[in-house]
Amino acid sequence: MSSHRAWVGLGSNLDDPRRHIEQAFEELDRLPLTRRLSASRCYASRPLGPQDQPDFINAVALLETRLSPLALLDQLQALEQRHRRIRARRWGPRTLDLDLLLFDDSVLALPRLVVPHPELTHRAFVVVPLLEVAPALTLPDGRRLAAAADILETDGLRPLLPRA
Ligand code: ATP
Ligand code: MG
Ligand code: MG
Repeated sequence: MSSHRAWVGLGSNLDDPRRHIEQAFEELDRLPLTRRLSASRCYASRPLGPQDQPDFINAVALLETRLSPLALLDQLQALEQRHRRIRARRWGPRTLDLDLLLFDDSVLALPRLVVPHPELTHRAFVVVPLLEVAPALTLPDGRRLAAAADILETDGLRPLLPRA
């Protein structure tokens, strides 16, 4: 089985969001056939869609994995469930969202899994942490993320200070 590199986007805006993100960093490192190679800082961002919900905490992590893309998605969804995520409405509040952003240079359009994540280049809370960890990151089409991203520099994103 060959090893792959997968970028995961993490988000939370309920019930001590930063704790959910930092716990998820550890849990990602313990997934089967997987280890976490790096993680960004945590960032605070305004919610997408419905505004009557708390700000989000977002981050990204880079994994090395021998899982297939769908097997990794299964693991990410199982982790979301362990954080008792309840899907009430689209883009509504959640304790943990784990999106598979990139999987090597794969391009997938399966019923359950689209990679690269379709909104990747449009979301500051994804692009900024990705570029923090990997400034030269390229997309499967060969473009550099830094050139392909169509976000404004900050879009209201605030990096959080490391916890003491
Ligand atoms: P968005 O994808 O716009 O960030 P969301 O994260 O709130 O929205 P979810 O409710 O977490 O959406 O997921 C909805 C469905 O998206 C999941 O059931 C999953 O099968 C599918 N999906 C498709 N592509 C991906 C991907 N790259 N990563 C995670 N889930 C994906
Ligand atoms: Mg999402
Ligand atoms: Mg999701």
